[in-house]
This record gives sequence, structure tokens and C-alpha cells, in this order.
Amino acid sequence: MSSDTENAFDAAVPLSQRAMMGARGAPRYLDDLNPAQREAVEALDGPVLMLAGAGTGKTKALTTRIAHLLNTGRARPNEILAVTFTNKAAREMKERVGRHLGEAVEGMPWMGTFHSISVKLLRRHAELVDLKSNFTILDTDDQIRLMKQLIVASNIDEKRWPARMLAGIIDGWKNRALTPDKIPVADANAFDRRGAELYAQYQTRLRELNAVDFGDLLLHVVTIFQAHADILKRYQEWFRYILVDEYQDTNVAQYLWLRLLAGGHKNICCVGDDDQSIYGWRGAEVGNILKFEKDFPGAKIIRLEQNYRSTPHILGAAGGVIAANKGRLGKELWTEAEDGEKVRLIGHWDGEEEARWIGEEIEAMQRGTRGMAPASLNAMAILVRASHQMRAFEDRFLTIGLPYKVIGGPRFYERMEIRDAMAYFRLAVSQDDDLAFERIVNTPKRGLGDKAVQTIQRAARTNGVSLVEGARLAAQGELIKGKGGAALGQLVADLDRWHGQLRAEADTHVELAEMILDESGYTTMWQNDKTPEAPGRLENLKELVKALENFDNLQGFLEHVALIMDNESDDADEKVSIMTLHAAKGLEFPIVFLPGWEDGLFPSQRSMDESGLKGLEEERRLAYVGITRAEELCTISFAANRRVYGQWQSQLPSRFIDELPEAHVDVLTPPGLYGGGYGAAGMSAAASPAAEYGRSTLQDRVGRADVYNSPGWRRLQDRSQQRPMRQPTEQRGMTIDLEAVSAFSEGDRVFHQKFGYGDVMGIEGDKLAISFDKAGEKNVVARFVVPAAEADDVPF
Ligand code: ATP
Ligand code: MG
Repeated sequence: MSSDTENAFDAAVPLSQRAMMGARGAPRYLDDLNPAQREAVEALDGPVLMLAGAGTGKTKALTTRIAHLLNTGRARPNEILAVTFTNKAAREMKERVGRHLGEAVEGMPWMGTFHSISVKLLRRHAELVDLKSNFTILDTDDQIRLMKQLIVASNIDEKRWPARMLAGIIDGWKNRALTPDKIPVADANAFDRRGAELYAQYQTRLRELNAVDFGDLLLHVVTIFQAHADILKRYQEWFRYILVDEYQDTNVAQYLWLRLLAGGHKNICCVGDDDQSIYGWRGAEVGNILKFEKDFPGAKIIRLEQNYRSTPHILGAAGGVIAANKGRLGKELWTEAEDGEKVRLIGHWDGEEEARWIGEEIEAMQRGTRGMAPASLNAMAILVRASHQMRAFEDRFLTIGLPYKVIGGPRFYERMEIRDAMAYFRLAVSQDDDLAFERIVNTPKRGLGDKAVQTIQRAARTNGVSLVEGARLAAQGELIKGKGGAALGQLVADLDRWHGQLRAEADTHVELAEMILDESGYTTMWQNDKTPEAPGRLENLKELVKALENFDNLQGFLEHVALIMDNESDDADEKVSIMTLHAAKGLEFPIVFLPGWEDGLFPSQRSMDESGLKGLEEERRLAYVGITRAEELCTISFAANRRVYGQWQSQLPSRFIDELPEAHVDVLTPPGLYGGGYGAAGMSAAASPAAEYGRSTLQDRVGRADVYNSPGWRRLQDRSQQRPMRQPTEQRGMTIDLEAVSAFSEGDRVFHQKFGYGDVMGIEGDKLAISFDKAGEKNVVARFVVPAAEADDVPF
């Protein structure tokens, strides 16, 4: 460029933009990019696919591209369509664009999620699908109620064919962009062969109500675009540039939506990572990203390989795990970052101990120990596979006063099923709790609708008594007729019985809680529920019962929860983040904890049962997403035991642990555990799942879960907990104290973690008959017992 033209260029560029220019005249934001990213940002016209691994700067390139489009005047803010996965991601994207440009970005109405953008489009053209522009968006409850009415009207047994099942099927069809007239023959058997017909009725009913459900938002827009070429053309021209983040997780409807909109100029830029496709269970099609080139011939495919997020050890560990998946494109990632710490792997006795250990680690890191600078709580995240895992952490953090926040969902005790269950417990404690009564009077459904509740309220008011008493009067006086009246009588009798049992202390509070959930029909309600959320809710209920075991009585537990709900750390500036792996997509944290790596929990048994190898591979991608969220330090942990409904259950370490390359992992479990190999632990190598797969592995090294079920291991664990973590020289050479496994004899003074101190009266197999000082005589499993002299070592 001659100096003349350079001057001419300068004159043409407004001052505000020139201030953003780097030395060579290019905007400064381009200087922050590597050549491949820069290519993706500067190739403004035509289709571009950025297909690259985690942390390679895809989202960064995407936001820079938006900044560049604006800065070069290619498009005005409202002519850019930018789709992200969550509203949170959309907000962050807007902020990032602003940062690149050095000023806040105003007027980007078309930056958002598929759903939020679709609502806007649909309001403008609602009449084309027989809706008015002020249509309502139904929530799941309304949706289910509507379907139930249709099922009943069609003389189908709603008990066998529940509305929630139909909702799942219809949602699946909508994800695949199938309107009722397009249901494939293969799906003809759905819902007792009545699926398609009910779907059609449901859509008709929605139209009559001027309503849509979530799936409709996209489907209607696609339908409009397909039927009205003129309208589609207008938008194709209006949205001069289209950008999509997390493209690997689009479903068929979203894919069609995009393909239609980009069909004119084809200025579409998608970024994604096939290894991070984690929404298959919701209809996402990873195939969409793999056929991009076919859909958009001549597309520029850009691969990024430099990772800017994580240390080589973290990348190495993640790469080792994902390599076990078949049918992936395969990518190499490298980083200039220093090696840093290896991924840490540690086994714990049980889930509570895992939570306790992580809490201590977090506090230590906050103070800055082990030569590390103090870390902010905001830099730390705990990523779990299943949301019920959060409970142990929330309880623990409340106890030690560690501020935390749950991202992407309610906190454990705020979940619907937990609140319902707690309302029952509250009523067992106090029948004056009107709020609790209102919450559960018709949950599960007892035929006690609004009118019945008003009758009860009137009875209570007139007589100046609680709602439970009002209900008693209403039932006795037969103020409510029919089925509802009988059910109310039953409910009052149940409440009385539970209250009586609580006062008589006939059962432990844990047993009583289980009884209440069963006898009230609440557990059954969720067992009969066929929605995708139901199994998770049942798991949460089990977790709730488990939490009760840490308290002496229901009252104490209820107080504890009241405290959690009123967590004073709510206004703390710094908080540890807790979220599911799914919610962590696209995010990054310097310090990441990945607890619960146990087969069945992670990989999730359900997902393997339902989808076999495909499910397992999706779980493995989740593991990859999890590890790659970490920038500096990643800690994977598992527990040897988990309590489920008061029963101890041995857990096997996750098979993904076997897949972690040893070179990138530091095993924190005391070496005595595996030093002697299986022989020392009294197990044959053939019994090892690792050996079954023909691998000699980390899992071998941290030992099989059964090994942990010995008091000897327990003591070892306790001892190692007393000294600061990671002192390998000191730990080396410790051997497992096998003698201790059968160390008890009659008359021994012992300590049990739940029942306290006692004397051994007899021994049978692995059971000990113990006379406890406080809890009386009980038979307990020996592995939960330690000699009394060592009880002080037990950190609970
Ligand atoms: P994911 O697959 O997890 O969504 P991603 O590919 O979208 O990851 P980004 O979140 O865009 O990755 O970037 C990861 C981190 O690397 C961010 O902190 C980002 O600021 C940084 N980064 C990206 N590109 C560069 C670069 N060229 N130079 C320096 N840092 C970069
Ligand atoms: Mg990203």
C-alpha cells in the first residue's frame, strides 16, 4: 500500500475506529488471534466451519468475527444473527464483542438462543400458523394437563399410557421437525398406536388456546419458512451474517432452521467440536456438524489445534479419555503452557468424605498452601454428572461456611420434589404448618382441586384452626363429596399416624421419612412418571433420605435446611461454582473438581442401559468436556461406597479412570493400597474389571473398591488425612494393615460412625454384634467399625 492510499484510508476511517487500530493498521483485536483464528475471522463471506477441540479459541474467534463484521461496516448490529446455547452464553458473547470493540454494543436483537430468537420471529408471523401474535408459551405442567385431557377423552388408560410419556414422544418428534402429518411409519406404534393422532389433536387444541409449547417455537418457524418463500427470502437478506456456537449440539429442527436462513448468501459461520456433543439424549445430531461441507459446498473448514486454556497434563488426560471413542474425527491439541500439575486422582471412603475432602482442599487453596498463590473461590468449580450429587457439597459447604452457587438449576433444597417431600416432613413434625399442607394436599393428585382447598380453608377459618384441622372437619362433615372426600380422610389419617410415630420414636427418623414418601404415594407418583426428569427426581429423593442420616432427628434436619435456604453467604463476592457437566459446556475455571467418577454414576448406568455403546460414548464426551474445563488444576475423585436408602453400596471406580494416561496423573491415594497389588489385597487379578479388559491400569493402582471396605484401609485413609496432602516421600512405604481386617474380638471397645461407642458382644462373618452405649444392641457390618482407641482419628 502506498503512503497516499494509506492516508486516504486513514481519512476515511472515523477516529473512534482508528483508535482501535494496531501498528499495522489492522484492528487491535485481530492481534490477539493466531493465524487460523484470524483466517476464520477475516473470511467474512461464504460458509465457514471451525471444527476444533476444547479451549482452542472457537468462541473467541466467533465473538471477534462479530466485532470485525461491525467494525468493517459489513453489517449493522441488527443484521447479525448469532445463536448460542444458553442465555448466559448470549450475554457473555455480547460483553466479549463489546470488549473487542472497546465500547458497549447496543442493538443486537438477534443474538440469543434458538428459542429466544424463534419467539421473536414467530410473534411477527403468528397468523401464518393460525396463531395470534400474543400467543402464550405453555410450561410443562400446562402441557401435561392438556395432554391428559386428550388421553382421557380418547378412552386411553392414562395409568398405562401417561401424559408425560406422550409429552416425551411429541417433544422428540418436534426436535426432529416432524409435524403430525409427517410422522414416519417406523413411529406408527408410538403410544399404543395412537401417538400421531393424539399429536394432531394436541396441536389443534394448542391453536384453539392460542398457545405454543417450547418445541413449537422452532417447528412453527421452520414451517413458516418452508411454506412462504417470500418471507424466508426477506430474512435471508436481512440477516447478512449468521454465526452459531456449539454447533455439535443442534437438533434436526435447529439444523433446518439454520439451513433455511443461510440458504441465500450462505454467510454462515458455525463452530463446534464433535467430541463435545453431549445432548444426543435431547435429539442433538452430531452428524449435523460432520456434514456441514456437504450442506454448504465450498465451505472453508478451519481447524484450530492450539489450546489456550489448559496445561499439557490436563489436555493429555482429556485426550487419553476421548481417544477411546470410535468414529470421531480425531484432533491433536497442543499448548505452549507449562506442564503444571498433573491431574490428581483420589479415592475416598464415601461420598460424604469426598465432599469433606474437597471442602478442605478449597479452603486450603483459598489460603494459598503448598506453594500456590491464594486462589479466589470464583476460580473454582465442582462439576457433577448428576444433580443429586450436589447435595453432599451444599450441606458440607453450609456447615463450614463456604460460599457457593449452583449454576444452571435450582439448589438442591429448592428443587420441586425436595420441597414437596420436605412439606410432608414438616407436617409430620407440626400439623400447624399450613403452607406445607397447601403444598401437598393434592400432590400426588387426590382429586382435591381448588374448590376442595377453598372448602378446607373455610372450615379452618370459621373454626379458627389449622388447615389440617380444617381438613379433618371437612372430611368428618363430608363437606367434600366423592373420591376427593375419601382421599382427604385418608390424608388426615396418614398425617396423624406419621405425627404419632414421630412422637413415639417408634422408628428412626430415616425410616419414618422413607415411610412417609412411600405411604403418601409421592414416590409412586414419580415412579409412574415417564418424563426424562423423573429418574433424576427419584434420585434426588433418595439423596434427601441419605442426608437425613447425618442428623439426629427430623426437626434438626428441617432447621438445617431452613438455614441453607437462608444462606447468608448469598451476598458473598466470591463463590465456588457447582454445576452439572452439561451446564459447564463452554465455560472455563482455573481449578476444577470432578467428583463421583464411579461406574453407574459416571458413566451413568441409565444412559448406558438406554443407549448402549452410543450412550457410553456420549458419557465419555462428557468426561472430556469436564476435564477440559480446567485451566490449571483438575482433580478427579471417586468413592468406594455410597449410601442408597440407608444401604451401603460398594462402588467401582469409573472405567474412564482406566483411560486416563498414567503420565498425566498423580494418584493421591496412599500407595500402600496398591503397592502390594491384588495379591496383597487378597484378590485375584481376574476379578479386576481392568484385567477383564486386558489393561493394567490406574484403576489397578488405586485398587478395587472392595479393598477400601476394610478398617485397615479406613485407618490408612484417616492417617493420610491428618497430614498435609501430597507428601509422597512420607507416604511411600506405607503398607496396608491387613491384620486389622479381622482385628476385632469379643469384648473389644469399638466406635461406629453412626451409633457411636460400644462393646463387641459377638462376631459372625463380617458382622459384629455390638452393644452400643447409646443406640443399644445392634448387628453391624465390621467394616464400619474402628477400634475405640482410634475413634478420635475419625474425622466426623
Ligand atoms: P470450548 O470448546 O470449551 O467452548 P473454545 O474453543 O470456545 O472452547 P474459548 O473459550 O474461545 O475456546 O477460548 C479458551 C480460552 O483461550 C479463553 O480463555 C480465551 O480467551 C483463550 N484464547 C483463545 N484464543 C486465544 C489466543 N489466540 N491467544 C490467547 N488466548 C486465547
Ligand atoms: Mg466455546
